[in-house]
Amino acid sequence: MCKHVLNAQVSIRSPCCRLWFDCAQCHADSQTHTLKQTMEMVFACKKCKKCFRKDMDEFEDSDEYCPHCDNHFVIEAREPKARLEVEGEDVRVDARMLRDERVKRKEELSVWEDEGEANRLG
Ligand SMILES: [Zn+2]
Ligand SMILES: [Zn+2]
Ligand SMILES: [Zn+2]
Repeated sequence: MCKHVLNAQVSIRSPCCRLWFDCAQCHADSQTHTLKQTMEMVFACKKCKKCFRKDMDEFEDSDEYCPHCDNHFVIEAREPKARLEVEGEDVRVDARMLRDERVKRKEELSVWEDEGEANRLG
């Protein structure tokens, strides 16, 4: 699972090596070549596990949803580093581990509940 984007909704097949990655950083970490850019992207929805293609040249609002299960996959990336910075100076190791557990479980429920949940935690 991708450790850069915690709420990744799709995997993307790289046009260069034809492997599946959750984000460009995952590709950079495991490969020595640079990620090739393409206008025809191949995605695999993490919700329904089906693949679909999108032409990034003609990407519209309706293309932000999985054509198979309507999963909204173009969402703001939730990154682990950004989250820890927001927690403030008083972050102890054990508290951080607890929070990470909650992040994982929340992710399975719904990404939309995140803001309210984060406020309650703080
Ligand atoms: Zn590659
Ligand atoms: Zn990644
Ligand atoms: Zn889907």
